[in-house]
Amino acid sequence: MPYRGRFAPSPTGDLHAGSLLAAFGSWLLARRAGGEWWVRIEDLDPPREVAGAAGRQLATLRGFGFESDAPVAFQSQRHALYQDALDRLLASGAAFECHCSRTDLAAAGGIHRRCVADSRRPQPAIRLRVADGTTITFDDRIQGPQTQEVAGTVGDFVLRRADGLWAYQLAVVVDDAAQGITDVVRGADLLDSTPRQILLQRALGLPTPTYAHLPLVTDARGRKLSKSDVAWPVHADDPLPTLRLAWDALGQDPRVLADAGDLAGLLAAARAAFAPDRIPRALPATGSAMPVAT
Ligand SMILES: [Zn+2]
Repeated sequence: MPYRGRFAPSPTGDLHAGSLLAAFGSWLLARRAGGEWWVRIEDLDPPREVAGAAGRQLATLRGFGFESDAPVAFQSQRHALYQDALDRLLASGAAFECHCSRTDLAAAGGIHRRCVADSRRPQPAIRLRVADGTTITFDDRIQGPQTQEVAGTVGDFVLRRADGLWAYQLAVVVDDAAQGITDVVRGADLLDSTPRQILLQRALGLPTPTYAHLPLVTDARGRKLSKSDVAWPVHADDPLPTLRLAWDALGQDPRVLADAGDLAGLLAAARAAFAPDRIPRALPATGSAMPVAT
């Protein structure tokens, strides 16, 4: 299968240093493999979204020279795909209705292993049943071998919330398969979601892509920059300094981009010299490694 990668931001704010690193890293790996790079907007959680953010993220990506090889997909327009997958999981018995409340779950340490609710809710959550002892192992291209005992550490996990919103895990698995994504490259904050996604792929009879989890950009205290850290925007009107810093953070030879005078030249030099094996598993705990280019 030819390589097809993707970058899939949630429109909860402007792109920050961590999301730019994920965009650049996923784009470089796709280009290095002679493959495609698709952009998908993960806008399934309206309460967390910021008006206009998706458009600004796409404009920022264009400013850095990152153009999707396919029309940009919006998850908010793909409900029928998620419903179809959920119906299949319910029909096969892999998924079930859960009427448990937060209080019920808290009594079980937050990990769902069996329904304990003594009353029914008008609209239950839907969960994937995780059999006792279920353990998932996979080999991450950057982070190395990974193992998670899903039953004990995560439990039966939500596919559709009681408020009707689709869970990230279901939407991302359905979309990656529907779009023929072969390689998922994203931040290491999603490393521990991957076993759940592999379980879902198996339950739906879908292929498992290759995974590569990039190091997280952390602040001076070693905390990861999240989408809620609005204090650190990335501006595309002067992209070269930011791209050079992201290149360094990806473990690449800084001399490669030192002489580039324009964006096209920099990206051409980057894709020609990119060495995936140099990507580090983690970055030093300093937010100043990738300051804002304004
Ligand atoms: Zn339950």
